[in-house]
Amino acid sequence: MSKSAPEELDALVIGAGVTGLYQLYCLLQRGLRVKIYEAGDGVGGTWYWNRYPGARFDSESVSYAYSFSEELLQEWDWKEEFSGQPENEQYLNFMADKFELRPHIRLGERVKSAIFDETANRWDVETESGRRARTQHLIAAVGILSATHMPDIPGIADFAGESFHTSRWPADPVDFAGKRVGVIGTGATAVQLIPHVAEACGHLTVFQRTPNYCAPLRNAQITPKRQAEIKRSYPEIFERCNQTVAGFIHEPDPRATFDVGPEEREAFYEEIWAQPGFKKWFGNFKDLMTNPEANEEYCKFVRKKIRERVDDPAVAEKLCPKDHYFGAKRIPLETDYYETYNRDNVLLVDVREAPIERITAKGVKTADAEYELDVIVYATGFDAVTGEITRIDLRGVDGQTIQERWAEGPRTYMGLQTVGFPNFFIENGAVFCNFTRCAEVTAEFVSRCIGYLREKGYERIEATPEAEEGWTKHADSLIKNMLRSDVNTWFFGSNIPGKPRAFLFYAGGGPAYREKCAHEEASGYEGFALS
Ligand code: NAP
Repeated sequence: MSKSAPEELDALVIGAGVTGLYQLYCLLQRGLRVKIYEAGDGVGGTWYWNRYPGARFDSESVSYAYSFSEELLQEWDWKEEFSGQPENEQYLNFMADKFELRPHIRLGERVKSAIFDETANRWDVETESGRRARTQHLIAAVGILSATHMPDIPGIADFAGESFHTSRWPADPVDFAGKRVGVIGTGATAVQLIPHVAEACGHLTVFQRTPNYCAPLRNAQITPKRQAEIKRSYPEIFERCNQTVAGFIHEPDPRATFDVGPEEREAFYEEIWAQPGFKKWFGNFKDLMTNPEANEEYCKFVRKKIRERVDDPAVAEKLCPKDHYFGAKRIPLETDYYETYNRDNVLLVDVREAPIERITAKGVKTADAEYELDVIVYATGFDAVTGEITRIDLRGVDGQTIQERWAEGPRTYMGLQTVGFPNFFIENGAVFCNFTRCAEVTAEFVSRCIGYLREKGYERIEATPEAEEGWTKHADSLIKNMLRSDVNTWFFGSNIPGKPRAFLFYAGGGPAYREKCAHEEASGYEGFALS
């Protein structure tokens, strides 16, 4: 497409995922001229791109749903307690159709640049195809896990077979029958994928660098009786999520780990282990994430569970994490993951012992062997939270680029704005929280804020340096009380070589964040300069 005349907008939202769709809905309700530019050829964001076999919610379907529309809640039937990717993508398409959002969404438009015009307080935006917009407000709803991370392994382009990153999975199913497949990575994505690939392929080699503490998902079909019960109890479900720090239905046990004796503790661990979802993490003793001894006590329990499920003790040891705390990395939820290593056609390769040296035309070469493969799957994660923003040529006041602004790590006020980038809102999972629960909070906050600016005749909003400084210090102080480790994790951006290490979320939880939003609104946005 040659360059078009820019469309004049009040707001441009980048991304048609969970956040972007709802942000569009909120702003349309206010009568604004608003569009979404979406890089994919369909809506759904994460649930459009991540089509790998086994992709599904780790959050309860009911707690991941949008809560804003009673009609939507009553019309949509979740089929499984932890719904699979095809259904999740259908849900987001259903939402887009129901609220007639499609005429306002431009698909296949990846934003290439956004330059702030200080004289007019407008953003000039251009996509890779040459589509242009001039907009007062620019909203990045680009997702926290969108920018794929390909590892820096020499020879990737030399491989003669097929290869895929899990987040750029082909729309047509991949035929694994009889093939020799290699999966690099053992994070939450790989843990969902591996059992499916092992069943479908000739032989699977898993290249593991760091084992994870994986916990059973315990998915189930939703029966008609349960469906009726869910539809009756949505208000209580969302109320409960709103009260918990992480926005899930699970609340921590009020006791500390060593308040109870060993037998009672073991019985409690067994009880939460038998429950679905993240109960085993967020429903644990209250000091799990703050007391190292308490955490290690639980780690021992989880390692025992792994050893019980893996037949070969040497393989089981490789699968047992020993170098980090439970919850220091995101806990993968699994179905049949550990049993997969009991299959004759599955081999676990520890690439910490023998690192991957290169990808060759034939497969993967480690320090001690070459593994011949027909397919390589890169389940190697994402340049999380900031990655999809810093890939845009984004320039604020005085032409400062976002890369320069965040050279020493991202600095924001409330995760929503960064100094020097007026009228630019970042909706990238500001809070460490069940995604949709907090996405609704930020989209509504931004929508009301833009409404306020228009009502009062303000043209420009920008976080103040003092507010940003205070927020950054506050957010850092919250993390200091939590168990940290030097392990590589996208939580801190440390999975990406050269990325400054910084916790990429607000760890104070949903309730505190909502209070902060309410305070800002009541004070006329005291942390922002309005003009
Ligand atoms: P990830 O957690 O970052 O895992 C990436 C994996 O690739 C790790 O095992 C990592 O090893 C490995 N790796 C990276 N570079 C490597 C290299 N050069 N050599 C060998 N191994 C390498 O990414 P992910 O599994 O895609 O998950 C990311 C996040 O997506 C999750 O934490 C979760 O929040 C989200 N997710 C959500 C769901 C859901 O809700 N249903 C499902 C899947 C994923 P190291 O650990 O040693 O770095």
